[in-house]
Amino acid sequence: MGKAIFLNFPTHGCINSLLGTVSELVNRGQKIIYYCTEEFRNKIEQTGAEFRPYKGVVNTFKIENDDLSKAIELSVEMAVDKLEHNLEAIRKEDPDYIVHDSLCTWGKQMAVILGCPSVNLMHSFPVTKSSFTFSKQTALLLAKVGFYKIKNELKTNSPKKILKQKYNINLSLADTMINRESLNIVYTSRHMAPDSFQSKKDFVFVGPSLFFKKKPSNFPFGRLANRKVVYISLGTLHNNNPSFYDMCIRAFRESEYIVVISIGFQIDPIDFSDYPHNFIIKRSVPQQILLKQVDLFITHAGMNSVNEAVCCGVPMLLLPHQFEQYLIAQKVEEMGIGRLMTIKKMTPSILYKHVHKLINDSKIKEQAEKYKVLFSQEEKLAHVKAADEILGYIRK
Ligand code: UDP
Repeated sequence: MGKAIFLNFPTHGCINSLLGTVSELVNRGQKIIYYCTEEFRNKIEQTGAEFRPYKGVVNTFKIENDDLSKAIELSVEMAVDKLEHNLEAIRKEDPDYIVHDSLCTWGKQMAVILGCPSVNLMHSFPVTKSSFTFSKQTALLLAKVGFYKIKNELKTNSPKKILKQKYNINLSLADTMINRESLNIVYTSRHMAPDSFQSKKDFVFVGPSLFFKKKPSNFPFGRLANRKVVYISLGTLHNNNPSFYDMCIRAFRESEYIVVISIGFQIDPIDFSDYPHNFIIKRSVPQQILLKQVDLFITHAGMNSVNEAVCCGVPMLLLPHQFEQYLIAQKVEEMGIGRLMTIKKMTPSILYKHVHKLINDSKIKEQAEKYKVLFSQEEKLAHVKAADEILGYIRK
């Protein structure tokens, strides 16, 4: 029996795609000790892995104002915190291998320090210079999310200096963003990947993996029967946007649609207490199950959300915040299953008009059905393929 330590960056987006693989490894007799923050204990324990809460003080990852340089600063701070407080405990575990995700810098570095084989699990395709073509639009977007500040930030970043002095780690920008290893497993279809990654052998695209697609829930699914359903979610990180939700309420008040909004945990649903009868507003919904009954998904184009929608054949209206979400949204538009728009330019009437148009667009629906078949075939085996890859690599 092999013994693995899983180290995860603490966000739902970084965790959800990995859980099917963890469960598969446990079923194959691997002992998995899974480190993450307490918030994620429940979902991780559902895989059969042994959960361990990270020790340390930097435990919540929040991106303020879409600023990527601030996100990277926090992620380096988290790396120092997690190395300082968890390295010795993990050394004592004496693992056969370490598995980490693409944002968990300390996972890759712990494996180097302990001289342990390691694998990188990526919930999204790699975003490097070769994943996009430079244009005025991409340059503007990179500037908006603070990309050009990042290099300077890393030069002066004091946690980065601690990593060098204490652990002799020369942290690169690429490591904070993709954590590349000799084996990198990507949880989406090759159909989503930028052309530049189609032939790269160290990136294995196993397909989407939906661990929660059959988990029971108390969501009022009965209210959706025989209705056209619009589902709105800005994901789990960029969702503190009450004015956007207000605008959605104005757009679809008394309309023919049932509208479900997932507002996240940064806003109180009480703030929307007098919303119309055709709305269901929750802090969180069972998205992987809900999407099976949805006619249109208004999404921030996070990779997990997009994978889940494609697996269910749901067309999308895409409102990205972050650079990689913009690339994903562009790809979805190219595939003919969604429309990319800008959240800042949205008004209730524009939103209603586009939703109505997309829901009644038979060509988009046809494309969505085509990709549903391709993605859901891959989804059935993604966790098995990923486990095969990991064990094959470790045994070598
Ligand atoms: N999610 C969910 N319920 C919600 C909102 C989100 O289960 O109400 C899940 C969703 O199914 C997806 C993940 O949270 O698996 C969000 O990941 P994504 O990559 O789409 O976006 P992020 O939250 O990382 O920006």
